[in-house]
Amino acid sequence: MTTALELKNISVAFDRLKIIDAITFALREGDIGCLLGPSGCGKTTLLRTIAGFETPFEGEVWIRGVRVSDNKHLVPVEQRQVGMVFQDYALFPHMTVKQNIAFGLQDFKGHLREVRISELVELLEIGEFLYKYPHRLSGGQQQRVALARAIASRPRILLLDEPFASMDITLREQLAKDVRNILKQDGITAVLVSHNQFEAFAMADIVGVINEGRLLQWDTAFNLYHRPATSYVADFIGEGVFLSGSVTGDREVHTELGVITGAMPLGLEQGTTVAVLIRPDDIIHDDMSELTARVTDKAFRGAEFLYTLALENGTRVLSLVPSHHNHPVNEDIGIRLEIDHLVVFPVR
Ligand code: ATP
Repeated sequence: MTTALELKNISVAFDRLKIIDAITFALREGDIGCLLGPSGCGKTTLLRTIAGFETPFEGEVWIRGVRVSDNKHLVPVEQRQVGMVFQDYALFPHMTVKQNIAFGLQDFKGHLREVRISELVELLEIGEFLYKYPHRLSGGQQQRVALARAIASRPRILLLDEPFASMDITLREQLAKDVRNILKQDGITAVLVSHNQFEAFAMADIVGVINEGRLLQWDTAFNLYHRPATSYVADFIGEGVFLSGSVTGDREVHTELGVITGAMPLGLEQGTTVAVLIRPDDIIHDDMSELTARVTDKAFRGAEFLYTLALENGTRVLSLVPSHHNHPVNEDIGIRLEIDHLVVFPVR
């Protein structure tokens, strides 16, 4: 598969302050990538750099084999053939849905324009409000129209900046899945910016975790969760706690929960002090187990409870337990470890 977008060692600064620090990644044709990170980490700046609104002081941006940015040359935004969707949709209020979409199709001749609009109506299921004005649509409907307008002229890359941020939290994940299906049907390569990991996981094939302008890991959601590259990623993605441990073998650590063995060599010397990542799904509730922990808190999640458990010496861990196991706070319950992916970080 060909590379649709490539960032090579991109650094961006404002007033000499480095905001993006040597970021490199590539996205294949038709793939959806997500830039995920906390507020102010530089996600929007990176997206604006891809669009051509910001000039990197170092590095290059390539779109479909063409270098569009380096520190000397900048292909203008309008020549990059990127589509954009923003948080506030930015639909024209005085135009109907159809006119809004047609606005993105100014280079299409009459008949071709109608054909493309029909395709978009079908793809995005927006036929029933084609002649309405944006203020008469729900947030989700407006988002679909904004998407239709952005992809109307078949951009090479679609950039989406927090496109669901103003929506109901329960609607977001569903909408992210819907948008993913639409982009996949049309084979559109896209980069999404989000600070919400569930949205990122629902929509993207590959996710980049950014903190303080650095790309810490560019990987699948599964790997970010189970094979985090840094302790920041481990902490940022999903839930979990770090237990203190000591390396006792090639793929073995000793913790207060006993010896934990991983499938892969740890690559650390015996005796190294480590932080061991324990996810809520690593701790199984088991009445038969001799190992017990005290329930200190519980959160009902429908199918599951997320229990906070205190180990003997007071260390807290989390455990995800089917919700028919309803134990009160302060009860001791049996637990056992079931760790498929042993993740440790040396403590310096
Ligand atoms: P959020 O999720 O809050 O939108 P973000 O990760 O998208 O944040 P950016 O908007 O890229 O972050 O901003 C990163 C940093 O760069 C912030 O500290 C911001 O104040 C700064 N910044 C952004 N644009 C400019 C600018 N034009 N001039 C100066 N500083 C800027």
